[in-house]
Amino acid sequence: MDEERPISSMSFPIEGEAGKTGTWRTHRPIIDKTKCTATKQNKLVCMLCWLFCPEATISKTIPPKINYEYCKGCGVCAEECPTKAISMEEEANFKE
Ligand code: SF4
Ligand code: SF4
Repeated sequence: MDEERPISSMSFPIEGEAGKTGTWRTHRPIIDKTKCTATKQNKLVCMLCWLFCPEATISKTIPPKINYEYCKGCGVCAEECPTKAISMEEEANFKE
């Protein structure tokens, strides 16, 4: 068993399980590293964004990174972030 996973009766998402869900997105989560506790402390602390993302598309790293191929823009990470480090911005503002 993956040692990083909590022991409970919950199920776990897998990145890409529902296809390239990034195409569903109308809003894009952006992490402000100056407000992120893990980044500021340079430790793997908090990580609620990683824990709650239903697409498992946020990395458990310093800083946490979002894979936009699979991020569907649901906003759960922004809701759960205790320091409001994640903002949801209009997808139309980004050109790729
Ligand atoms: S939930 Fe917010 S503060 Fe916590 S690691 Fe994620 S971005 Fe950083
Ligand atoms: S908005 Fe946040 S919680 Fe939702 S899929 Fe994207 S990274 Fe995951």
